[in-house]
Amino acid sequence: MNLLIKNAEIVTMNKEGEIMIGDLHIVDDIIMNIGPNLEVSQPDKIIDAKGKTVIPGFVQTHIHLCQTIFRGQGDDLELMDWLKKRIWPLEAAHDEESIYYSAMLGIGELIQSGTTTIVDMETVHHTEYAFKAIAESGIRALSGKVMMDKGDEVPVPLQEKTENSIRESVDLLEKWHNYDNGRIKYAFSPRFVVSCTEKLLREVQFLSEHYHVMVHTHASENLGEIDIVQKETGMRNIVYLDHLGLANPRLILAHCIWLDDEEKKIIRERGVHVSHCPGSNLKLASGIAETPYMISEQVSLSLGADGAPCNNNLDMFNEMRLAALIQKPAHGPTAMDAHTVFKMATIGGAKAVGMENEIGSIEVGKKADLAILNLNHFHTYPSYGVDPISRIVYSATRADVETTIINGEIVMENGLLKTINKSIVLHEANNCIKRLLQRAKMK
Ligand SMILES: [Zn+2]
Repeated sequence: MNLLIKNAEIVTMNKEGEIMIGDLHIVDDIIMNIGPNLEVSQPDKIIDAKGKTVIPGFVQTHIHLCQTIFRGQGDDLELMDWLKKRIWPLEAAHDEESIYYSAMLGIGELIQSGTTTIVDMETVHHTEYAFKAIAESGIRALSGKVMMDKGDEVPVPLQEKTENSIRESVDLLEKWHNYDNGRIKYAFSPRFVVSCTEKLLREVQFLSEHYHVMVHTHASENLGEIDIVQKETGMRNIVYLDHLGLANPRLILAHCIWLDDEEKKIIRERGVHVSHCPGSNLKLASGIAETPYMISEQVSLSLGADGAPCNNNLDMFNEMRLAALIQKPAHGPTAMDAHTVFKMATIGGAKAVGMENEIGSIEVGKKADLAILNLNHFHTYPSYGVDPISRIVYSATRADVETTIINGEIVMENGLLKTINKSIVLHEANNCIKRLLQRAKMK
């Protein structure tokens, strides 16, 4: 594909933070040239983006596609109740088809709201079917089956033996890691320390080093969770992960709300990546992460929507707005300004997945992962004299995303998804959740 996008306002997110009016030339999956009035002979397609805004595609570093069909099934509960009463029984009821359609429902929403890369955590079984959906949809993803070889009140189908958990993870890794020229990557996904034996976590540490793949887990989201870890290991959560050798730049930790000084130091000094999920943290009443402090200490910080049943959206515009606004009452109006938050949503996410040289900004030689926004609406005007990034973070919504391009492929154009059949996915999402609720004896 030889694609020319003309006359756009391009928010590059390069090191200089350049914003320009010009053209973008994409060949296959790569941005070949950026500039005014590019001369391109016989492009396959021209998109006239006059008056539109092109941004780097969003990178969400904490998502559970397998939970998308549980949207609305876990409202108004705190974390451990939410898991034990609603989420684990539903995950245990999943089958191959329900995993596939749950993933497609989530990816449809992500693409429509301008997200082009995700870090996804699946459930114990049928992860193959999430990878199939990821492969077909065209989204860029790091994903992995969840690992959980211990824990109270875990439904029988989710209880797995350490050896099986590891063997199945490695089988999936060998099949899917670097699929489609590296668009898909594997990430080991131990659920959280509460669900994992020391043996499992040590093995994950060894394997992530051996295969050079990321580890994606939850940490210090909830005070009850921290108490359990402290009782069982005699250590704080992050101290324990460090003790096992897991605290390094291959680790992505979702949440990190309740950290003491030693844990903050470990995260900073070891180059651990924090995925901040403000929507989920508020809805589960978990708390508010100290992101202004993390920014001042140059911690690698990015954003994620978490799962649909604890948010209940997978929309980066929501997460950006929340990430900015929730800090201001405590830390003042200049905390988490629009530029800081937009960086977290784009190049910050790219850094978290070790791909800052390939994605996260619009620069020559990088992958063509981007979204075209139409900000010509009442709610985004006036444009005159307004910082374009302020318009995107504080005023724009997901409905303003017109076109999404991932790996050079147009996956949505003028609001129409090209790789996902919306009516089939919506229909099957209802069929699947109905079946799962019956199987879990929840309805
Ligand atoms: Zn999560």
